[in-house]
Amino acid sequence: REPSKPVAKSPAPQRRRVRLTHPDRLYWPEEGINKEGLADYYAEVWRHIAPWITGRPLALLRCPNGIAGEKFFQKHAWKGISLHVVQVQDPKNPKDEPLIAIEDLDGLMGLVQSAALEIHPWGSTLADWERPDLITMDLDPGEGVAWSAVITAARDLRQRFHDLGLTAFVKTSGGKGLHVVAPLVPKAEWPAVKAFTKAMADAMAADDPDRYVATISKAKRRGKILIDYLRNQRGATAVAPYSTRARPGAAVSAPLYWDELDEIIGPAWFTLRNMPVRLATLGADPWEGFRAAAVPLEPARKKPR
Ligand code: ATP
Ligand code: MN
Ligand code: MN
Repeated sequence: REPSKPVAKSPAPQRRRVRLTHPDRLYWPEEGINKEGLADYYAEVWRHIAPWITGRPLALLRCPNGIAGEKFFQKHAWKGISLHVVQVQDPKNPKDEPLIAIEDLDGLMGLVQSAALEIHPWGSTLADWERPDLITMDLDPGEGVAWSAVITAARDLRQRFHDLGLTAFVKTSGGKGLHVVAPLVPKAEWPAVKAFTKAMADAMAADDPDRYVATISKAKRRGKILIDYLRNQRGATAVAPYSTRARPGAAVSAPLYWDELDEIIGPAWFTLRNMPVRLATLGADPWEGFRAAAVPLEPARKKPR
């Protein structure tokens, strides 16, 4: 981490132009956060979230009646979707219903208007659907796993990425776990990236079978951490950095500096309420160097040793 740079004055939040109907509709009833509160949050963090949610296919967790009501995980555009939301055709599935994307803050406000309380982008962009520009390793602690063990797993993964020539970044999920994310220069296609991440997860489980599993099977998971590499296949998603979660507490998925990872900052420590303050205080984004750190996944790097 850079030693204290002068704190940059954060730019004024973007103006919202999309009209919200029912701005006082409660989304997180216990926290008293309504639709307008969500719109204000996204306007404040727009500069930080924009690179992760613009120009990519998106899945949405929509909760029209707030987090206590019915939830729809939605990958396709629907009748009556906001005109600020872009509908895109998957080039591999031209007969499917169009997918969802946004290009700007108006688009994000269109998502807020439609009660999208979680935003889950693909790991590739509309400019290059078949070549991911990031890898997401999702650490899912099973029942009874201590938080410190999840931190250890994240650091272990960081080292493995490093040994393979990749730079890893860490964020809270806003739920129960951590996500370790590595930038790629889009070059390898989905099947190669999936095979690479499977090999990483398998290696971790083989090296430390008491702590890690790489396959989703509930019985095996008790007391262990699932290294969920399946975010890295075509059409799969992971929650975006700075996206809110449709869970009690109004946590957000929060990019961290590696040296912030400790016992105090749990997976849901950062919320819609404290994140704007955090960013203003930091005067920087913990993942600022993400894109600059991207390297292509070369064939020689494909298989972890
Ligand atoms: P946690 O830390 O609690 O695990 P998470 O976001 O990592 O939070 P997972 O269940 O591990 O939660 O996430 C898997 C990812 O799978 C989600 O982030 C989402 O992008 C994607 N996903 C795929 N299908 C669904 C679905 N039906 N409902 C919710 N998420 C889904
Ligand atoms: Mn997870
Ligand atoms: Mn998972």
